[in-house]
Amino acid sequence: MNITKEKILSDLKKVAMIMFTKEFVDTSKEDQYKIFATVIKGYLSENWLEKNENYRIGKEKQVYYFSLEFLLGKMTCTNIINLGLEELCMEVMDELGLDFKGFDKYDAEPGLGNGGLGRLAACFLDSMASIGIPGHGCGIRYDYGLFEQKIVNGEQIEGPDNWLKNGFVWETKKSHQSKRIKFYGDITLKELGGCLTPVHTGYETILAVPYDVPIVGYKNKVVNNLRLWKAQIEGNDFDFNSFSYGTFSELDEKKRNAEAISKLLYPDDTTESGRLLRLKQEYFFVSAGLQSIVDYNSKKGITPNEFPNTFSIQINDTHPALCVAEFMRILIDEKKVYWDEAWEITKEVMSYTNHTILTEAMEKWEIDKVQQLIPRVYMIIEEINRRFCDEVYQKYDDWDRVMEVAIIKDRLINMAHLAIVGSHSINGVSKLHTEVLTKKVLKNFYELYPERFNNKTNGITHRRWLLKSNKALTTLIDEMIGSSWKDDPNLLEKLTEFSEDKNFCEKIEGIKLENKKKLAELIWQETGIEVDINSIFDTHVKRLHGYKRQLLNILHIIYLYREILENKDFTMHPKTFIFSAKAAPGYYLAKRIIKLINSVGKLINNDDRINKFIKVIFIPNYSVSKAQIIIPGSDLSEQISTVGMEASGTSNMKFMMNGALTIGTLDGANVEIKEAVGGENIFIFGLNYKELKEIEKKQSYNPIKFLKENPKINKIVEMLRDGTFGGDFSSIYSHLVDEDRYFVLKDFNSYLETHKKIDGIYRDRDRWNSMVVKNIAKSGHFSSDNTIRKYAEEIWKI
Ligand SMILES: *Cc1c(COP(=O)(O)O)cnc(C)c1O
Repeated sequence: MNITKEKILSDLKKVAMIMFTKEFVDTSKEDQYKIFATVIKGYLSENWLEKNENYRIGKEKQVYYFSLEFLLGKMTCTNIINLGLEELCMEVMDELGLDFKGFDKYDAEPGLGNGGLGRLAACFLDSMASIGIPGHGCGIRYDYGLFEQKIVNGEQIEGPDNWLKNGFVWETKKSHQSKRIKFYGDITLKELGGCLTPVHTGYETILAVPYDVPIVGYKNKVVNNLRLWKAQIEGNDFDFNSFSYGTFSELDEKKRNAEAISKLLYPDDTTESGRLLRLKQEYFFVSAGLQSIVDYNSKKGITPNEFPNTFSIQINDTHPALCVAEFMRILIDEKKVYWDEAWEITKEVMSYTNHTILTEAMEKWEIDKVQQLIPRVYMIIEEINRRFCDEVYQKYDDWDRVMEVAIIKDRLINMAHLAIVGSHSINGVSKLHTEVLTKKVLKNFYELYPERFNNKTNGITHRRWLLKSNKALTTLIDEMIGSSWKDDPNLLEKLTEFSEDKNFCEKIEGIKLENKKKLAELIWQETGIEVDINSIFDTHVKRLHGYKRQLLNILHIIYLYREILENKDFTMHPKTFIFSAKAAPGYYLAKRIIKLINSVGKLINNDDRINKFIKVIFIPNYSVSKAQIIIPGSDLSEQISTVGMEASGTSNMKFMMNGALTIGTLDGANVEIKEAVGGENIFIFGLNYKELKEIEKKQSYNPIKFLKENPKINKIVEMLRDGTFGGDFSSIYSHLVDEDRYFVLKDFNSYLETHKKIDGIYRDRDRWNSMVVKNIAKSGHFSSDNTIRKYAEEIWKI
């Protein structure tokens, strides 16, 4: 297809007529963008159709990435970039008085994820398509994504994220490919054709309706598929009689219950409320996805024993771990495969990615719940567990050992154990994380199946996080090293030789300043606060959680506040501290920390003695689209988690790619960033993993004693309860003094000293810029293209 300016213009006219019965120029701005996106969708649909057809008739092995979350972000601009139509679209838009900003403004944002885990899934889809791997996503089409956060009186207020309210151009409903999902009921074993067959009766059926979203590869004509499932009741969803009498019927109730399954993305996986619904969600999309894959392959004439050669399934964290049991159910009950063979097929097909070692986030389900909701699947889990426990007992002759790895224990199903036992590959997401898994958290499993464990350090797509987010930097890099780095981001390394090039470094600095202006604009719009773009933009953006230690950051700010007030000679390079973070609605401490940040900010921003040195900004409602503005406009990236707790982190990589330097602990992928750029190009502070574990073992850290020995820190902590900031922060005070389980105080001095050091280096502009260039140059290592190539070779065998 030859796409020209004229063709786009005439297609816009046509589509405007079809959609709105109007001339393009007579439609509203918003509709013009919708029409534009629809025209673009038309162009990619040809590739989509062709690719689907190739996949259908071909023998190429497919990958399915199962994830309860896909934090996609806005798609129109990245689709245009990936289609290679950026220049052309700009020309057309120029002529029509439109621009890319408008797409961002009116584009629906599918924020169907909480944070890093969901964003990783989105980056992986982009990379699979861009390097030409037939890899697809499977998830839920939530009516409401992660809640919308407003800040009122400094506190987080949650509202619905009605992302679909103006429609979503990029999805296509595929009703004819709907699947039936069975819940509840009874299983009886009946003699059928000479063998005992489980028969499921008295169940409820929910219809899973797929909505497909195209995933466009970068200038390679590949269009893969993200299939998101929506829950509906089967058949007629409208009771004419009760409606005409104005009453609610049983049908209405059924409809509400069914639709509840795909209503909402859970903002939290640690609270009790709605847990049953979450379990329903998990089974719902797992069953729909697997049925659809198996039907597709059966139609192609592929028999179950060939499945491991035709597709792989990646289980993203434990939420889709039911894949193991549901796949066994399909193979045994529907495809009539014997257990042993079915088990071998399942293990070969499945692989599992672990994302956390926090015990409170380890998913466990009460067996009563599972048994009631999905009785047949429960039977299979029981049998998997029985056989597995047998195997372990045979090997070690030790029941304690068996109980440590059992899938079912204390009437709870351990979903991580189910995923591990049923997969041929288990990976952590950074070197350190994988080491902690194999040496500690999953040590017993590692000893059982060492060959299954491997590391795949997370990555990010440079197409969204550089090409789309930082166009000026993209253009400058093109000028310096040509544009082949866009296809192979490892080539960014060529920039290293320009790290001492004054002229180039000045240009880098100029681009940063422009991006800081854009961020300052966003800050002004969102908060009404003016910030100085010549100050250091020091940014801490990610979910709000104890282990991510936003508290350490704000305590340091309080320290600076005191210093400025009490020390007449105090001086520092002005700093703007920028936060953005959502807290899980049920996570009290996290919400108090948001309030604290805002309260400290209010005091500081309004005090002229202080605000010439520092300002504190909290940008509400952190999202992918906000991240795309915040990250390129930052000088310093706060990656300060308690060591051993951040599995990888991915925003650390996004910042680095956009020329921000990292202040961080030796945690997650920070370790590998340090290896890549060298210790002199990153600011590392705090305890390392070994030291922290030593302290934990000896129980040698006592915050009260620590505070006695550190009166300066003690003064700051006391300010949490002396009313300085208004509000009641005694819960944060107690958290620190009673236990300080995230070692906030313990790392404080080291953090403080490192910040002082950074201040000095920032003033040496040449040195700073040279460090920036070295970071950008090494950031290609952390492209998700590299990560996906390793998954493909080592796990999926593609
Ligand atoms: C990248 C990203 C995250 C993950 O950030 P971490 O710092 O790695 O936890 C979370 N939310 C959004 C919107 C992101 O883009």
